[in-house]
This record gives sequence, structure tokens and C-alpha cells, in this order.
Amino acid sequence: MSLDSFPRHSLLFGPSPVHPLDRLSAHLGGARIWAKREDCNSGLAYGGNKTRKLEYLVPDALARGADTLVTIGGIQSNHTRQVAAVAARLGLKAVLVQESWVDWPDAVNDKVGNILLSRVMGAEIRLVEAGFGIGAKDSWHQALADVEARGGTPYAIPAGASDHPLGGLGFANWAREVARQEQELGVFFDTIVVCSVTGSTHAGMIAGFAGQDRPRRVLGIDASAKIGETRAQVGKIARATAELIGLGRDLSEDEITVLEGWAGDLYGVPVESTLDAIRLTGRLEGMIIDPVYEGKSMAGLIDLVRGGDIPATSNVLYAHLGGQPALNAYSGVFR
Ligand code: PLP
Repeated sequence: MSLDSFPRHSLLFGPSPVHPLDRLSAHLGGARIWAKREDCNSGLAYGGNKTRKLEYLVPDALARGADTLVTIGGIQSNHTRQVAAVAARLGLKAVLVQESWVDWPDAVNDKVGNILLSRVMGAEIRLVEAGFGIGAKDSWHQALADVEARGGTPYAIPAGASDHPLGGLGFANWAREVARQEQELGVFFDTIVVCSVTGSTHAGMIAGFAGQDRPRRVLGIDASAKIGETRAQVGKIARATAELIGLGRDLSEDEITVLEGWAGDLYGVPVESTLDAIRLTGRLEGMIIDPVYEGKSMAGLIDLVRGGDIPATSNVLYAHLGGQPALNAYSGVFR
């Protein structure tokens, strides 16, 4: 099997844009930093990394005759919002289990941002009291059973569309897209920096890049504050995806790098370095990143460039995976 043997339902505008962040690079005084923008990859409800993953799940859902996409995330989940948008585009229903993964005190947390957009798009939203966890949850199984009980045909999409046989394909395709864009731009990105939580974004990239001729570092930055679980999930999905797309060899341990140090103590709660990274990126580049995911991976990139772990000779590609709608639930930290 190769990546091309899997059907893909086009949901993106085309290749997501790649551009340099020259003022940020000059400010840090090291490697040249570029961004590839999944936050503007699609016209579907502000896009993001899940929209790209769903390109490979949708043909499977349609082939199985599904009429309802059923998924799960936190209250401010970007993933569930993207599933709602894709369901709307396809004329399907969406049932979204939104758990209280983040104990966030903002009074509008369950009213604005992602959850507001999902309501606008007509998704059925179930608010459930339960803590953070990327595994299969009872609430999600219950939602699937309820759809069946009322005569529907559900299609199960796990948290982040990650722990799914096709979950890594979207970002294996991203790796191929990067190689084409490098040809056009005349640049080689020796280092990729990507935020990792449910794992299939980073894992898909690892599998996709592993099949290319020129090696590069694909650095995951953990934003879940559960580094052991993130590493295990990235490794599992990367290996499964590599096999699925016919890599023809095992991935080695040093190809799977998930770094800790920027997540703080809790998923969804920004720390000082997160907020500094958000302000710096906004003020130097006009590029908006969020307090749950991209603010944490950008904080990692900033430290790795400043400290020379990513050398000054590098061209580093920051994967901007979207997520800005959640900022609305965090207004209190930017007063
Ligand atoms: N960045 C954003 C904006 C996200 O919504 C997510 C989703 O979890 C991630 C990063 C992490 O991606 P993944 O869950 O595939 O590891």
C-alpha cells in the first residue's frame, strides 16, 4: 500500500501556505523560522489540523453509510468544531461530547469560541463532567449507542481523530506537501516543530518524512503535560502509519522525539512562557496563536532557537495547527 492508495475527500483550499517569520527570526538571532499555516488551510470554520486528518476519514465514513459523525473533546475543543464543520459540509449530523477537560474559571468558557461555532453549525452538543484523557471514554461510547438507538448510523471519530487506523494519513500527506513546497521555494527545512497532544499530527509527519531521501528532525512539543502518554501514542501511531503507507522498514526510537518542558502542569492551562510566546508572535508577526496548543509549541521553538539546540544555520518550519477560536475563553489572562 502507498499513501495514494487511500481515498481522500478534498476539504482544503489546496496546499497550506508557507512563509518566513523574518521579524521573529531576527529577534531571536538564530535559525531562520518559517510557518506552514493549517489555521488558514480551509474555508471550513477556520480550519486547523483536524480538517486535514478528516480528508482521509470522510471516504471511510461515507462508504459505511454513516449519517452522524460522533466525536469527543474538551469544552473548547478545536477538533469537535472541525468535525461539526465537516459534517455540515457533507450534509451529515454531528454529535459532540464536550468534556470538562480543563478546569478553566472563565465565565464564558462554555459559551464562546469553538463551542459557539459548533452550535452555530447545528451540532448536537453534550456537556459531560469528566477530566482530561485522550483514550476512549464512556461518554463517547454512550453517544454512539444513542445514535444507533434512535435509528442513525454513527461514525466514530476518537479524540483528535488520532487513535483511528487512518488518523496519521493526513499529516503523512502534509510531509509530501512540504517536500513539493521546498522545491518551489528553493529551501530545505532541516527541523520541523509541531505541537503534540493526541499524537497523530506529529506521528503522521514522522511516517511521511521517513520515506523521503533527505533526513530531518521532526520535534514534537508536548502540550498535554502527560509526556509518557503522548510519547507512547505518537510512537504507536507513527509505526502503524508507516506500515500502512508501505515505508518498508521499522521506525527507530530516535525518529520519535517528543520534548517536554513547555506544557506547564496541566493540559489547557497556559503558563508564563505560553503567554510570552503568544504576545511575541502577535507583536512581531501579527500571527495569532492559542494558549492551549500553539502557544506552548512556540514557547518550545523560541527556547530551542535561543539556546542553539536548533542551530543558527537551520531553516526551521513551525507547523501552525490552528486553534485561535479558543482565545476567546482566555480573555482574562490578556487584560
Ligand atoms: N494544535 C491545535 C490547535 C490543536 O487543536 C491540536 C489538537 O489536539 C493540536 C495542536 C495537537 O494535535 P494532535 O492532537 O494531533 O497531537
